[in-house]
Amino acid sequence: ERAFPTSDGATPMMAQFLELRGQAPLDALLFYRMGDFYELFFDDAVRAAEALDIALTKRGEHQGEPIPMCGVPVHNAQAYLSRLIKAGFKVAVGEQMEDPAEAKKRGAKSVVKRAITRIVTPGTLTEDDLLDARSANRIAALARLATGEAALAWADVSEGVFQSSAVPEGALEAELAALNPAELLVADEDARLASALCPASTVTPRVRAKFDAASGERRLKQRFEVASLDSFGDFTRAEIAALGCLLDYLELTQAGAPAKLSAPRSMAAGAAMAIDPAARVSLEIDRTMAGSRKGSLIDAIDRTVTAPGARLLAERLARPSTDLDAIGARHDAVAFFLETRELREQVRARLKSAGDPARALSRLCLNRGGPRDLLQLARALREGERLNADFARSPRSRPPVLVASQLEAVSLAARPGLAALVQDVERALVDEPPLLTRDGGFVRPGWAPGLDELRKLKDESRRVVAGLQKTYADQSGVASLKVKHNNVLGYFIEVSAKNADALMGVEPFIHRQTMANAVRFSTPELGELEAKIASAGERAIALELEIFEELRARVEALSDSVRAAAQGLAELDLASAAAQWAEEAGACRPRVDDSGAFEIEAGRHPVVEAALRRQAERFTPNACRLDASGEAAARLLLVTGPNMAGKSTFLRQNALIAILAQAGLFVPAASARIGLVDRLFSRVGAADDLARGRSTFMAEMIETAAILNQAGPRALVILDEIGRGTSTYDGLSIAWAAVEHLHAVNRCRALFATHYHELTRLADELEACGNVSLKAREWKGELVFLHEVQPGPADRSYGVEVARRAGLPAAAVKRAKEILKRLESDDTPAAALSDLPLFSAVQAEPESRPSAVEERLKAIDPDGLSPREAHELLYVLKGLV
Ligand code: ADP
Repeated sequence: ERAFPTSDGATPMMAQFLELRGQAPLDALLFYRMGDFYELFFDDAVRAAEALDIALTKRGEHQGEPIPMCGVPVHNAQAYLSRLIKAGFKVAVGEQMEDPAEAKKRGAKSVVKRAITRIVTPGTLTEDDLLDARSANRIAALARLATGEAALAWADVSEGVFQSSAVPEGALEAELAALNPAELLVADEDARLASALCPASTVTPRVRAKFDAASGERRLKQRFEVASLDSFGDFTRAEIAALGCLLDYLELTQAGAPAKLSAPRSMAAGAAMAIDPAARVSLEIDRTMAGSRKGSLIDAIDRTVTAPGARLLAERLARPSTDLDAIGARHDAVAFFLETRELREQVRARLKSAGDPARALSRLCLNRGGPRDLLQLARALREGERLNADFARSPRSRPPVLVASQLEAVSLAARPGLAALVQDVERALVDEPPLLTRDGGFVRPGWAPGLDELRKLKDESRRVVAGLQKTYADQSGVASLKVKHNNVLGYFIEVSAKNADALMGVEPFIHRQTMANAVRFSTPELGELEAKIASAGERAIALELEIFEELRARVEALSDSVRAAAQGLAELDLASAAAQWAEEAGACRPRVDDSGAFEIEAGRHPVVEAALRRQAERFTPNACRLDASGEAAARLLLVTGPNMAGKSTFLRQNALIAILAQAGLFVPAASARIGLVDRLFSRVGAADDLARGRSTFMAEMIETAAILNQAGPRALVILDEIGRGTSTYDGLSIAWAAVEHLHAVNRCRALFATHYHELTRLADELEACGNVSLKAREWKGELVFLHEVQPGPADRSYGVEVARRAGLPAAAVKRAKEILKRLESDDTPAAALSDLPLFSAVQAEPESRPSAVEERLKAIDPDGLSPREAHELLYVLKGLV
């Protein structure tokens, strides 16, 4: 564990450092501001130097030991911060809180005041270069009360989101997978559990007391200035505990300038389709199993033109809705944009310049924003206004409710304060302002007369300086005399060494510096101009900062409407992008209702189809019909067929169609009717879970157990090849029992792909169980996969055929066919094989001795035979077989 020395015998500065060090969390490095550098000391220095690969030096001594030190320059601290955060560190930033000159006034020995102004952690970032534009950056807190009640609270500081949800038993893993937080706060004793459940997140343990519901409630009420939390909705005790702990941490890390958060909102448990983590991974929703975005569902369907739109799409796919009204409204919006192509294109073109207003807003509210953020925000709001005008001009005057309400949210007409702000920002700022306010130069000429005055003064003085060069050259007779500027001398005159005598001791020139081959002078007039220019420059920057602050404060005051407008733009982007994809992919509007149906006609797998299309190949569409009641169709379908026939693809495409439909998107099918799915389970492929030290089979059984224990009547279950990781009998028995359990106990819609052909017999015995298979056909000695799903079980001999094509020795293929025949004719595999002679007993004989025909053939000399003899010999040979 990390420890820092006591401050006994420390210099005043070191004493201050150690005090700040004591205030910063132990798991964070402390950046201690010293002029143009952030310095790190002791163990912080050792760790940072290693992580950043920078020099570790020493500075003075403390308690008789040299003090390890390293530092990073302030001007590119961001780059170092970014590397440290990516390497899993947290960084506390200790800034100078006063001008060093102030400290000097108090006495030669006094130390500049410093304070921790921020703790940078993976979950609390707001800077664009530290964030992925197209994915959310969430921080979550997990509260588990003594009562067994659990809840998650989460925030996206870069967008101001602040929400919570109660977590029903058994749903924690799925909830965490949906949130995918960058940082997760848990009580100390839950840290190990959290690291196991969320291996990709930074887990930050907090003392249990931080999860106290009563103090959490107090904190929330105080922060949001309400007498009761009821005004924000219904929260469980665990939700309040989680929200309280999260708020406490945000206040700690933002050091008193906490993020502008929206009022807390509870997402009712069950408001979203729960997708278990295994399904999320195996369906490759937001990244492939190999971890890349390319090749994922989202990569295939994302047509958004703004980063917030892309984040909204990711959010919808992570938590597809279970609210029929909301789903219907989203489908209406997509349908609208599908029909109004011209308008859609206009909307998309406009949105392209809308940028990322939500993140700009958060930075501005946190005092981390710059002029570029202001302008980006104003431009986005202006585009919102123009969108309203586009719609007003469009012949389709009545957009559906969702579109209309978002247009309302981005309209400036109804918000005069906001409209005025946008106009002021546009007028006040130059077209391409710098990122930071620091150096000024972002206020447009003509906006502030006082500023223009100062700038003029500066410019004029500069012109006077430029004119002085000629005056001084004439006066001294040195034609090559130059007036130059640097930070040490300010304006000065420079002449070559051989011309120096012409100025030395001559009024008004004052000797300042002798260099190797140049000599420098100043004059009182240059000094005056220098002071004039510097003070005008300083005052100009101060004025610019004032103007910036005035506009920033107005943005903050209007942050609720700005956030609503940003959300509106993201929704419009998503709806129009969804229509764009639907048109390109030929997707249809699904009907989602509260039936138990799952009727997909001509369904396709959006990712496989796109991949095939790139190779100019066609995807074969397939229907899938399930019915939870088991009346209109089977509740559980067994899917058989040879390897590579398309079983997994079929399973996955149906799961993806359910997700897309409830995410409010259209689906790749000719038609689709889906009775609401409340939970999606999938066990596909045999991905090793080595990270958690489980064998393939163990991982598979844990997932299967979760499904059989948890799937309710509204669940959709996709199971692919379970039992493969163990011996045939074990595997077959487990698969068999799983099918029966799903059919009789879970009673949910399920697709069950298996290579155990024996299972297909279950369809005869279980009333709501059916068989489909993927057919293949032999054609010119080749096995051709048609990828077509047909009723009935597969013809099982294809496996042997595939083996033959793969080059299995002919004898082995022949033997496999024999065994297969036995297995097919008998009731149980065990009985079928009990009296089957062993392979070696049958095969050993013919293989060891040559046959009579062979012996005879060996003896023949073909060149010595007449045609007639040859003919006779053929009869003899034929007689031998
Ligand atoms: P299985 O699970 O039966 O071994 P897969 O589903 O992995 O087979 O499919 C194997 C390959 O066949 C896929 O990678 C894909 O290229 C192709 N394929 C699958 N389904 C289809 C389809 N419906 N239309 C066209 N090609 C398909």
